[in-house]
Amino acid sequence: MKEIVDSIGEKRTLSLEKLKTIVDCSDKEEINYLYSTARKTANKYYGNRVYIRGLIEFTNRCKNDCYYCGLRASNKEIHRYCLSEDDIFRCCENGYSLGFRTFVLQGGEDLSISDEDYIRLIQRIKTKFPDCAITLSIGERSRKSYKRLFEAGADRYLLRHETANEVHYRRLHPENMSFKNRMRCISDLKQIGYQTGVGFMVGSPYQTIDNIYQDLCFIRELSPEMVGIGPFIPHKDTPFGEKAQGSLELTLKLISIIRLLLPSVLLPATTALGSIAPNGRERGILAGANVVMPNLSPVERRADYSLYNNKLSVGAESAEGLENLKSRISQLGYSIVSDRGDFIPMDKA
Ligand code: SAM
Repeated sequence: MKEIVDSIGEKRTLSLEKLKTIVDCSDKEEINYLYSTARKTANKYYGNRVYIRGLIEFTNRCKNDCYYCGLRASNKEIHRYCLSEDDIFRCCENGYSLGFRTFVLQGGEDLSISDEDYIRLIQRIKTKFPDCAITLSIGERSRKSYKRLFEAGADRYLLRHETANEVHYRRLHPENMSFKNRMRCISDLKQIGYQTGVGFMVGSPYQTIDNIYQDLCFIRELSPEMVGIGPFIPHKDTPFGEKAQGSLELTLKLISIIRLLLPSVLLPATTALGSIAPNGRERGILAGANVVMPNLSPVERRADYSLYNNKLSVGAESAEGLENLKSRISQLGYSIVSDRGDFIPMDKA
């Protein structure tokens, strides 16, 4: 397997056969070689720095009905909320004082929030914190809307593609959602100039190894600035409530492969990874991730942003637990930095 790892790193290409060899490998030493090669690759661009992003989950209202997600419109068991502009702004003030220089505004597709509302919010945050980056993660919108929000000051946008295979997409989403539209959104975001993030759930229902290979080819081809992957975790009040959870080991292997394919990509150790194993976040960093996203949302709202069962939002996963997170990360030989943490293009290393 070592030759395969080296060849992915050198040529930055992958074949289905090579992917299968890595996925099937259970030899600890060889897997560690994969992780350490990915780590060295990240170190080349980012040294031992790990970036933090303050995650503000500002609305759990959503018009969509994705079969996997606890926020889906048909879930009548959750208590819906939407933070006010002042509430969101207070989260940013709190985050700034803790050292965050990126705010990630994430939410369901909440039809009660207009472009004008977002523009006012973005401009308010940017005026008060001009040294901070704003990342939006608010789903599918028109090109015109993406452009307006970018012009208002948003820097980055996370929109996971979820799967690069249309047949698989259809098994994860209801009829009225469209694979082509999601892809159109991603291409608009890139063209407009956002630092763009895509990604997928590892082990989502019906996912095959060929699907994963297609996901990796799509990511390699698009060359986004950010990639977010995490294990699928079932949510009890969704149609996928009884499906199996995605694997920690496979997620870690895929983090490493993505690092080798896109050496300078911003790659978070996601909350989902931290939620399925006590040291999941740390293992993500040791597999080549370089970003963590502690939760900055008001503590009393966090339980309501339940994408999946047992989602972490306290301890080292929370902004208040930043000192704890810093010490855990420093034990790995890494250090958390208070920095916008922009993407470094490969030729700027
Ligand atoms: N609505 C926005 C969007 O569609 O991009 C952002 C919010 S959405 C809840 C954020 C991400 O959560 C999704 O892209 C999905 O990959 C992930 N997610 C949802 N349900 C999940 C589950 N059961 N397990 C793991 N990740 C999940």
